[in-house]
Amino acid sequence: MSDDVLDLFRKSGALLEGHFRLSSGLHSDRYLQSALVLQFPEFAEALGAGIAERTRHLQPTAVLSPALGGIVIGQEVGRALGVRALFAERQEGVLMLRRGFTLSAADRVLVVEDVITTGGSTREAIEVAAATGAEVVGAAAIVDRGSDAARLNLPLYALVKLDVPAYVPESCPLCARKVPVSKPGSRT
Ligand SMILES: [Zn+2]
Repeated sequence: MSDDVLDLFRKSGALLEGHFRLSSGLHSDRYLQSALVLQFPEFAEALGAGIAERTRHLQPTAVLSPALGGIVIGQEVGRALGVRALFAERQEGVLMLRRGFTLSAADRVLVVEDVITTGGSTREAIEVAAATGAEVVGAAAIVDRGSDAARLNLPLYALVKLDVPAYVPESCPLCARKVPVSKPGSRT
């Protein structure tokens, strides 16, 4: 499955090489633009089904994803599990449920992201769900870029683990060589 998943990223041109500023603020020489994979419904469906297969035993009643990156894969996981797919979004920097989305103490929530790097937005989504009284039963992603699962205090299910080094800017070797840095999501 891991090789198949990376193949989908390569086929879609979603595995970029260069000097990138990740959403976590870290720098890396590789970037996964998962939107390029997920634009193909058959790929999105297959990846969602793969995550659902690994997490069905948790018996989630809802999937919660941080916007924007998690929305498409969250929808596909929800579809494969036959449960609601909600997303949380930022308002003045704070992740929250909007648009009338609700969770309750009766819900078992699976937090789903496209790519987990530091786990920062996953942790925030976990807090959003927990604040409603729901039980957070696990976290899942298409790609785990070397997050520290222990810091999530939850089981983490990823279809592929990709250990690509990410650096704080001060110790980034590409910055040291003065290679221009780009923020991939913002490129036209
Ligand atoms: Zn750098």
